[in-house]
Amino acid sequence: PVGPGPLLEVQQISKRFRGLWALREVSLSVGAGEIRGIVGPNGSGKTTLFNVISGLYRPSGGTVRLGGAPVGGRRPYQLSHAGLARTFQNLRLFNNLTVRENVLVAADRSRTRGIWRYAVWQVGVVRRDRALRARADAMLDQFGLSAFADALPRSLPYGIQRRVEIARAMVSGPRLLLLDEPAAGLNGEEVRQLGEIVRSIRDSGVTVVIIEHNMGLVMSLCERITVLASGEVIAEGGPAEVAATPRVIEAYLGD
Ligand code: ADP
Repeated sequence: PVGPGPLLEVQQISKRFRGLWALREVSLSVGAGEIRGIVGPNGSGKTTLFNVISGLYRPSGGTVRLGGAPVGGRRPYQLSHAGLARTFQNLRLFNNLTVRENVLVAADRSRTRGIWRYAVWQVGVVRRDRALRARADAMLDQFGLSAFADALPRSLPYGIQRRVEIARAMVSGPRLLLLDEPAAGLNGEEVRQLGEIVRSIRDSGVTVVIIEHNMGLVMSLCERITVLASGEVIAEGGPAEVAATPRVIEAYLGD
């Protein structure tokens, strides 16, 4: 259930790697139903922020709340239970499993803890569960992947592989989806399709936070954009507003 406040609250999150502050007191709030863009030059801390939100990194300071509840210290599979799903900048599909199996392994939230280590074993278990199979097939259908269900990911165009990764994230039924550079490596038509997919996800009631270098996509998708530079939030607002902010222009000129 979503409380009256924002769905995602990042409060003064810092993350230090040895001498380097990858994030410095970063705060942002994302309302339910929003598509929030996170942009910034390379090395500005975007992926680190996702890694903190999704429980891969323990922050050096600050708190993250999901639906009002603090989620600090929770492991990624526990956050999956709490309704969080994400994709990675580099594809993490199992190349020895079919498209359908890749989605199936993530279909059962109660098992997501082991998916990386036990994927092949798990697919055997999950495959026997008719309800999960139906859910995976519904995802393939929703994302236009039914025709590729029995193919191995590597044999498919990159844009399709990206879509499989999104379908896999969505099959756990998240309320918050984090997308890390989903347009990387896609051609113009694939980017357009991706935009439609992200909108359809939001329209189905899921809140989306998207890290993206493709400014055209971010500007067309997001009502609000948060700009990071050197681990700090340097601007936040609507697309036109942030694009006109002198600090943002400076940060990008130095990239
Ligand atoms: P972005 O996603 O905006 O390109 P990152 O979050 O990947 O930026 O990186 C922010 C900074 O933190 C960079 O200087 C990067 O080298 C550093 N960094 C990220 N992850 C680690 C890590 N696991 N160990 C050490 N330094 C890291």
